[in-house]
Amino acid sequence: MLDVRGLSVDVGRGAQALRVVRDVSFTVRRGEAVGLVGESGSGKSMTAFALMNLFPSPLARVAEGEVRLQGRDLRGLDAESMRQVRGAGIGMVFQDPTSYLDPLIPVGRQIAEPLRAHGRTDGLDARVRELIELMELPQPAQTARKYPHELSGGQRQRILIAAALAMRPALLIADEPTTALDVTVQAGILQLLARLRRELDLGILLITHDLGVVAETCQRVNVMYAGEIVEQEAVGPLFAAPRHPYTQGLLGSILTPRSRAHSLFSIPGAVPIAGRWPSGCRFHPRCPIARPGLCDVQPPALLGSGLGEGADRCHLSAERGSANAWTTMAVR
Ligand code: SF4
Ligand code: MG
Repeated sequence: MLDVRGLSVDVGRGAQALRVVRDVSFTVRRGEAVGLVGESGSGKSMTAFALMNLFPSPLARVAEGEVRLQGRDLRGLDAESMRQVRGAGIGMVFQDPTSYLDPLIPVGRQIAEPLRAHGRTDGLDARVRELIELMELPQPAQTARKYPHELSGGQRQRILIAAALAMRPALLIADEPTTALDVTVQAGILQLLARLRRELDLGILLITHDLGVVAETCQRVNVMYAGEIVEQEAVGPLFAAPRHPYTQGLLGSILTPRSRAHSLFSIPGAVPIAGRWPSGCRFHPRCPIARPGLCDVQPPALLGSGLGEGADRCHLSAERGSANAWTTMAVR
C-alpha cells in the first residue's frame, strides 16, 4: 500500500547540503505494522517527514526517490492535493500529545477538526463519539466536552489518534507515540494500535528508538543507522537471529527475559552527526569486527540473505550469517 523507493533527503543548500537520509526503500501493507527503528539522529523522523513532504525546516527537501500510496505517486502532488492526502490518506501522531492539542478547545472539537477541514460536517457529533468509543475512552459524549487538561497523558494521546483516524486514512504514521508516557500507559496505547490495525485493516508505520515497542507491535522492521537502512526483516527472525552488528548491539542493549540476568550492554562510541557520515560502512568506527582496508573504504550494499524478505548491509554478512559480532569481541 505504501511503497517507498530510493528515498534520499538533503538538508541545506548547494554544496553545503548534507544528505541526512540515503536510499531508503521499504513497504507497508494494509493491516500491517512496520517499524522504523534507530537512535536519535539516525534519520527515521526525517524519513517520515519526507513521506508527507512536510519538513520542520525549509532547508530540508526530498532529493531523490519515489513515494507511492495505494499506487499514487505522492512526489508530484501540488500543495492542495498533498493536503488532501494528509488526513484522508495518511494520518499522523507524534511523541508529545500535549503540544499538539489546543488547551482552550474541547477535545471533541479537536477530533472533528480534520473532518471540518475536509468539509465532512454531516453527522459530525456522532462520528466524533464513534471515534472516542473506538479509542476505548469512557462516556463519549462527556469526554468530547472535556478540555485536554482534564484528561491523562494516555487519554490525550488517544484523542490525537482519534483525530488522525477521523478521515479513515489507510496509513497511520506514529512517531514515538508512547515515548512520553509511563510504561503501563504505553502498553495500553500499543494494544490499542494493534487492535485498530486488525479491525480497520490499517497500515501503521511505527517510528521508535525502542526495539521493545517494535517487538510488541510490528510485523516487520527496518533498522536505521546513520541515515540508511542497515537491516530489514520480519520481527520473528530479527529478534531470534539479528545479522547486522548494529542490530545485534541494539538487541543486546534492551532488557529481554534472557538478558535480564546480565549487565546491560551498550554500543561503544557515539552516533555520527547527521550528514557527516564516516567513510565506507558508516558503522565501521563502532563495529567490533570491522575489517581495515574494506569496511572503512567501501560502502556495503543492502543485500538479501535469500531467506524470505531479510536483508542487511554488511560486507561480512555472507560469511558470518547471524554470528554475534559482540561475542567475538568479548572473546578477543
Ligand atoms: Fe562492521 Fe564491516 Fe559489517 Fe560495517 S561492513 S557492519 S564495519 S563488518
Ligand atoms: Mg525523532
